[in-house]
Amino acid sequence: MSSMGSMPFVVDHIAIERSVVLSNQGCRNLVPLFRPRKSVTDLAFVCDSSSVTSGCRAPRIKATGENSSNVDTNDVTQVTIDKTSRKNFAMKADKQQIVERRETTKSTGSTLINSEEETDPAFSNASYKLLSNSSIDPVEDELDDLSQSVTTKLYDDEKKNKTVDLPPDNPLDGEPESKSLLDASNGAYEKSEDITESILDEEADVPASDDVESPPLAGPNVMNVILVAAECAPWSKTGGLGDVAGALPKALAQRGHRVMVVVPLYGNYDGLQDTGIRRRYKVGWEDVDVDYFQTYIDGVDFVFIRCHMFNNLGSNIYGGNREDILRRMVLFCKAAVEVPWYVPCGGVCYGDGNLVFVANDWHTALLPVYLKAYYRDNGLMSYTRSILVIHNIAHQGRGPVDDFGHVDLPPHYLDLFRLYDPVGGEHFNIFAAGLKTADRVVTVSQGYSWELKTSEGGWGLHNIINENGWKLKGIVNGIDTKEWNPEVDAHLTSDGYTNYSLETLNTGKPQCKAALQKELGLPILDDVPLIGFIGRLDVQKGVDLIGQSVPWIVDQDVQLVMLGTGRPDLEQMLREMENRHPDKIRGWVGFSVKMAHRITAGVDILLMPSRFEPCGLNQLYAMNYGTIPVVHAVGGLRDTVQPFDPFHESGLGWTFNRAEAGQLIHALGNCLLTYREYRQSWEGIQQRGMTQDLSWDNAAQNYEDVFVAAKYQW
Ligand code: ADP
Repeated sequence: MSSMGSMPFVVDHIAIERSVVLSNQGCRNLVPLFRPRKSVTDLAFVCDSSSVTSGCRAPRIKATGENSSNVDTNDVTQVTIDKTSRKNFAMKADKQQIVERRETTKSTGSTLINSEEETDPAFSNASYKLLSNSSIDPVEDELDDLSQSVTTKLYDDEKKNKTVDLPPDNPLDGEPESKSLLDASNGAYEKSEDITESILDEEADVPASDDVESPPLAGPNVMNVILVAAECAPWSKTGGLGDVAGALPKALAQRGHRVMVVVPLYGNYDGLQDTGIRRRYKVGWEDVDVDYFQTYIDGVDFVFIRCHMFNNLGSNIYGGNREDILRRMVLFCKAAVEVPWYVPCGGVCYGDGNLVFVANDWHTALLPVYLKAYYRDNGLMSYTRSILVIHNIAHQGRGPVDDFGHVDLPPHYLDLFRLYDPVGGEHFNIFAAGLKTADRVVTVSQGYSWELKTSEGGWGLHNIINENGWKLKGIVNGIDTKEWNPEVDAHLTSDGYTNYSLETLNTGKPQCKAALQKELGLPILDDVPLIGFIGRLDVQKGVDLIGQSVPWIVDQDVQLVMLGTGRPDLEQMLREMENRHPDKIRGWVGFSVKMAHRITAGVDILLMPSRFEPCGLNQLYAMNYGTIPVVHAVGGLRDTVQPFDPFHESGLGWTFNRAEAGQLIHALGNCLLTYREYRQSWEGIQQRGMTQDLSWDNAAQNYEDVFVAAKYQW
């Protein structure tokens, strides 16, 4: 424990209650609301009162009880049965907790607490090494190979070319300042390019109501859930992860769970409150100061971690060289895993009892590892579980083995990270460690969960995924039906656009189409099929296949609009397509949430020729807007777009089986034929798409099943 100097110390409900009571002596605003949720016999720890302080820090706990140990999965059911009585008890207590929680959040709002400054511990034997700056990412290399058909070869290789940043001056000199976020005046949060729209500007008016109609409560399954992600819409978003982090927690909260999202603070966001909590974490050679901000929206606590590492990133969340990104994620995971101890939401910290962390992608895959290394191995947080969600296995946090020096773990943890594969050789792999350590693993569709187990789809991690197959579950993402709903879409209320529903589809959608054609400067032609693409410009998304199909497409009397940012060569491809065919094609290079909504509403057909697609959200949004998807049948696209069957008038769109331009053309050709010649069939597809239940409710219930399985797994 010498290396654990200032670990969080509150354990289970007695400790939590005690910490609340003690903390109240120094923090008048803290409202003690936690009640015991488990029987005393469940406790594995006792308070060491000698180390209790009178400030806001939690009391130190001496581990005296059992360590959690792994059991054969066959025993899980038995364990679950054995715990029925505990479950029943928890059910009553948790229901009470929800009621109390709702009352508290209505009445107290946010509570500000000044925690005592404390330097975070470092493992004494973890020495910083100056690391090789070379990138070894076989996944990217392989994607690179795939891109050879793209005319311009300007592979985005910034990771390889940047130099190592020199360590800054020691931030420990002088006390950390307690200044308001709103005081930040370095202008770093301005948009970096005029093509890049501020998501905040568009979506700052997020409704902050808690009178949302609730689906059935989770009942005995109710838990405290902390979702940790590198991005979260509407504040930060580069892709589907941001959408999921913004929407899934709300669906979980509606089921009665107490839910928090922890995300870095990249900008000067409106409406956040400074919690007054300050912490300091060791990241390599540097001690980094962190502040916690928060807000409460739609039943969810959103906690933002501010530190200099996240500032200045603008829309380039994953920018910088490999080491920069790694250090940011180390800091983020260290700060996030302590949130349940230090950041009171609605007056009360979440604590460790009945708690599940949901980490997302490699960026936060260190969190399950830290939970184990810093806590579980030391007899702490025994009742806390971690779930790791795979949104995209192609990005893994790979680097040379020396990168282990950055992550501040005991030496024997290296084996969790060390991976050999024929492409990358022996390397350091963060996703690998997270997958092995997390209690459960979720991925974003059933199709992708199957693909991950293959050598083609697992990107070198398939063996680990197969070995841990028992804990993997595929759950298809839902959509935020407030955000992506043509009936109430805020981006369709001006510039000639209009909201529409299934009932007004035949007038509303053509109006949106005309408005889109007008906005883009295309000829306003109602009977000409308008085809769209929205997404990251990356070989994964098959954008190059659309490029290869352009000669055929422009011969079809159609219009095409493409919106995206990403690889410079593909951005250039979009510009060239527009320049060559100005009367038919628009290539909008930029990130614009407003345009994404307007394109989704205005186009007739959405192309998604992704080479692989873990879930895909745009096809779901499209179907909800009466827009017909044409997709490569892979991953989540195969799961969610049943192919149109003209004999039975069933299905939701067109699919093709190989990521090839010829196949895309064939599917699109059939789609265009149906658009022109078989209007009834077309409208049937639209109707079926719009009447699906695409909400997060089902997915939230499935996630809940995973939480419960993890909770009773020892
Ligand atoms: P991925 O997460 O692989 O990028 P998804 O289909 O899961 O793909 O999610 C992409 C999300 O990002 C969608 O919400 C989509 O509308 C959005 N998006 C992608 N590119 C852009 C862009 N250029 N402008 C606005 N939104 C975009």
